Amino acid sequence: MPRIESSALAFVALRCPRCHEGPLFTHPALSFKFARMPDNCPICGQAYEPEPGFYWGAMFVSYGFSVAIFAISGVLCYYLLGDPAVWVYVLTVAVASFALMPLVFRYSRAIMLYLFGGVSYKPDAPRKSPLEQPSAS
Ligand SMILES: [Zn+2]
Repeated sequence: MPRIESSALAFVALRCPRCHEGPLFTHPALSFKFARMPDNCPICGQAYEPEPGFYWGAMFVSYGFSVAIFAISGVLCYYLLGDPAVWVYVLTVAVASFALMPLVFRYSRAIMLYLFGGVSYKPDAPRKSPLEQPSAS
């Protein structure tokens, strides 16, 4: 994967905060294994879990995302559907929350790692040798 110079773009692309090349997750967001993270960056070897229980804090970030999804989908429902019945609100919020769950999970963890992981971008971070890196197949 090509390196991304901007930390903001590397965050959006869910890349390693240290080398901006290694992916934070092993499977696509639309896979049932969307939550799998490698223990270390496959490119530079940076630990993705700086300390045990590090991602407990991601629950609070996820809660913030959920409140935003609840509010935005409720307001959209009110204005686009003309104040429908309560079950329509409940169904809309539930479907929106469930559909966005993989993204909320991934970006909550990425926010934790980028903001509180104590890792900064090092363009010259040592790379693993080609024998240590996973093959492209
Ligand atoms: Zn890395």
